[in-house]
Amino acid sequence: MKYPEIRNYINGKWINSSTSKKMEVISPLDGNLLSTVPMSSASDLNEAVKAAQLAFLSWSKTPIKERVQVFFRYKQLLEKYLPELAALCSEENGKTYGESVAEIEKCIELTEFATSLPQLVTGELLEVSRGVECRTEHVPLGVVASIVPFNFPSMVPNWTIPNALALGNCMIMKPSEKVPLSCCRLADILKEAGLPDGVFNIVHGDVEIVEAICDHPKIEAVSFVGSTKIAKIVYQRATHNYKRCLALGGAKNHLLVLPDAISEMTAQNVAASMSGCAGQRCMAASAMIGVGAIDHIVDKICDEARKIVPGVNLGAVINKASLDRIEHFITEAEKDGAKILVDGRNTKVAGKEKGTYVGPTVIDFVTSDMSVAREEIFGPVISIIRTKTVDEALAIENANPYGNAASVFTQNGGMARYIIDRASAGMIGVNVGVPVPREPFSFGGWNESKFGVGDITGKSSIEFWTKLKKSTIKWNADAGINWMS
Ligand code: NAD
Repeated sequence: MKYPEIRNYINGKWINSSTSKKMEVISPLDGNLLSTVPMSSASDLNEAVKAAQLAFLSWSKTPIKERVQVFFRYKQLLEKYLPELAALCSEENGKTYGESVAEIEKCIELTEFATSLPQLVTGELLEVSRGVECRTEHVPLGVVASIVPFNFPSMVPNWTIPNALALGNCMIMKPSEKVPLSCCRLADILKEAGLPDGVFNIVHGDVEIVEAICDHPKIEAVSFVGSTKIAKIVYQRATHNYKRCLALGGAKNHLLVLPDAISEMTAQNVAASMSGCAGQRCMAASAMIGVGAIDHIVDKICDEARKIVPGVNLGAVINKASLDRIEHFITEAEKDGAKILVDGRNTKVAGKEKGTYVGPTVIDFVTSDMSVAREEIFGPVISIIRTKTVDEALAIENANPYGNAASVFTQNGGMARYIIDRASAGMIGVNVGVPVPREPFSFGGWNESKFGVGDITGKSSIEFWTKLKKSTIKWNADAGINWMS
């Protein structure tokens, strides 16, 4: 085992879970055992919540301009430790080192945004009646929880950590049991940046601990990122217990490719979008709808896909179950009559035989009833559906239950606007394969890709992580008695 066994992080200390149940953490790159992670119990969660409640007393009273000093230092430490964090991310998640560097760079950008929060959370003040003023303040909620998925071991935790903490909350983080190491390293870095003990805590585990979070009476808000199936369960359970909840789910992102699109650029963007992070991005292109005569672009997409080499510029998928699932989708499509133009099944990387790799896969002549067209595959696979008109393409995009992202590739501005207006997704790209808004613009999908109000990052997150206090104040005796007395 490469690393010592993982422990929970409570009140600034690494402590053993009260249970002996644990899971192995395996590197998808080569199948090596990295560590073990405890499957904690509700009593472990209780200890973490108690520590967070205590820390909240002073952290919430610390002025925000002081709180963000921790995140100026945290940002610098993320820069300092970038190579180490990227290597760890790649090792536990399976993405390439370059992709992991980009992930840590995104964490830095997210932290930069948090350091600007004092400029954004100033309240409002108005003399509403003679001698009477009303003012508003954003007040932290208390103890909050963040439950995260496996596909971005550092970035998704950093969607919530800097903003929620800078706004004065104390947090319980529940990392993905598949990739818990990066989160642990973040805890050490936060401490080095000067974050007081108890403000950030980690409780590892899976279903049991997520359920305990949703049920805990002292946790005020739950942020969840993961599959739609679990997002629905978490959203229902947390809100049933009267908590604030924002639950981001899965995706099936459609790219609409029009015949006038610049073929080289389109092919490069489609191939990069479907295969980046081995297709395990909630913003990955999964279905491409080719409108009209687009054979010349499909040929180029295949050329680009063949340049993507597993183990070199394509990482591994998270585990064997995921590999089998992805290959099953491809086989089903073939049986249903689709044409496999580039086939990523049965991929082996020399010297890493226990790694879980799927090569880039391009499937043409997919119809919208096939499972590859309907379901989230979460692998480096693009399914091409052909239509005659843009409206047919939009009807397919609109009918899919998810709504994270959609993109259009065209040189026609009017047509791009027509599609922006009609695509049913929260994040739209024009000639962009992965239309993730950069800070300060917020991240969040629609439909079955998100449950709850607002977005998880950017200014929108201020509303989620705070509540408004409204004061009506009269000091002026001359204000007299009026209807506001
Ligand atoms: P997942 O839903 O399996 O797991 C997410 C979290 O839920 C993990 O911490 C896990 O321990 C916990 N969990 C798993 N099963 C549970 C259960 N039955 N009850 C309670 N908790 C449970 O997701 P994943 O496989 O880790 O991540 C991939 C998914 O996340 C994909 O669907 C992807 O699209 C989605 N995702 C969405 C976004 C977004 O912004 N919408 C971002 C990243 C990932």
